[in-house]
Amino acid sequence: MNFSYSEKVVALQKELTEFMEEHVYPSEKTYKQQLNEQETRWSDIPPIMEELKEKAKKAGLWNLFLPESELGAGLTNLEYAPLCEIMGRSAIGPEVFNCAAPDTGNMEVLVRYGKEEHKEEWLRPLLDGRIRSCFSMTEPDVASSDATNISASIVRDGDEYVINGRKWWSSGAGDPRCKISIVMGKSDPNAPRYEQQSMILVPLDTPGVKIERMLPVFGYDDAPHGHAEITFENVRVRASNILLGEGKGFAIAQGRLGPGRIHHCMRLIGAAERALEYLCKRVQERSTFGKPLSNQGVIQEWIADSRIEIEQARLLTLKAAYMMDTVGNKAAKAEIAMIKVVAPNMALKVIDRAIQAFGAAGVSDDFPLASSWASARTLRLADGPDEVHRAQIARLELKKHDVSLQTV
Ligand SMILES: Cc1cc2nc3c(=O)[nH]c(=O)nc-3n(C[C@H](O)[C@H](O)[C@H](O)COP(=O)(O)OP(=O)(O)OC[C@H]3O[C@@H](n4cnc5c(N)ncnc54)[C@H](O)[C@@H]3O)c2cc1C
Repeated sequence: MNFSYSEKVVALQKELTEFMEEHVYPSEKTYKQQLNEQETRWSDIPPIMEELKEKAKKAGLWNLFLPESELGAGLTNLEYAPLCEIMGRSAIGPEVFNCAAPDTGNMEVLVRYGKEEHKEEWLRPLLDGRIRSCFSMTEPDVASSDATNISASIVRDGDEYVINGRKWWSSGAGDPRCKISIVMGKSDPNAPRYEQQSMILVPLDTPGVKIERMLPVFGYDDAPHGHAEITFENVRVRASNILLGEGKGFAIAQGRLGPGRIHHCMRLIGAAERALEYLCKRVQERSTFGKPLSNQGVIQEWIADSRIEIEQARLLTLKAAYMMDTVGNKAAKAEIAMIKVVAPNMALKVIDRAIQAFGAAGVSDDFPLASSWASARTLRLADGPDEVHRAQIARLELKKHDVSLQTV
């Protein structure tokens, strides 16, 4: 693995950093204000977001994800990693460049598994940033970290499929521009364990789709995108909306969740970097007991440990991205699982130290630390809890050594 970034990536890093400094960070406050000025926090998108998107598009900083496709910017996962990290420094960053979750994962699914008609109807507007999407797998009634439990039904009826079930934590479904969901459900309860589920495209305006409520995260509503509980009652969609075919839900999940997971990790590294930057600035500005906070040994230790942990996480992220590019998502599953455990836990530690160094201001919303911590905390659960990834890593490790021990 080569540790230096290519010229192309270095140039894009510079452009993105400048864009973030000139346009994105100064707009964070405006975004919040505009959101609060609307009739409700869910009624519309703060206008500043569309302005920023236009600027990013004009600057050519658009759809930088999407490896192995002519539709993206032609970057590999390894090339995208340091760029995604820069976007992840701001909660509003990824959307500005059309690189936000869950759209990136969903767009990859449509590119790899969608039919031409799906690409025309859903992928094109998603790539243009005209609509948004959500992913509805998790259900309140079953332990969804084991996806074989997913039980919403997808039943064929002539030229249509009928969907019934209740989903929750469909992130992004509160967004007025969210038009399409990729829904996972059971199409054949009698098939082999990993062939019972399918994924199907469900337009959110289909009769029978109802958003029941939006779920807060530690009190944050994450408006205007949010996390929705949705019921599907006798929802009928065209049979051609099934992705890849009946029983292929797990096969698609393998493909979708790899890139989606690593994107989260890349963004978390950016969030941790920003928290460390805030910490370092703050402790040089304020003094207690006659000396700047930065002179306290304990704070220097926080800074050093944060730098060490960020670097470790970044290297493992890059290795996972490199493996995805060179041997494929499936063969990179151990590295993807490892970084999915490492990155949120690392970010939580770094952000928590920054919160502590800020004193009470750290838990307020005057600075991005508290919301950033809340968001990082969800990623120990979202896209699979730590324990499930650890179990997979352990399984792969045990398999490597499943021969009898020899005495020496
Ligand atoms: C902010 C946020 C956004 C989300 N966005 C989406 C989304 O867009 N779409 C979507 O479909 N879902 C989404 N999710 C849901 C998320 O993917 C699930 O919450 C997660 O997969 C866990 O499922 P569960 O909540 O049903 O927990 P359960 O399956 O009930 O598990 C509970 C706990 O059991 C433990 N556990 C589980 N398995 C094992 C094991 N093998 N060994 C040891 N311990 C274990 C873990 O600690 C786990 O946290 C989101 C969640 C959050 C918090």
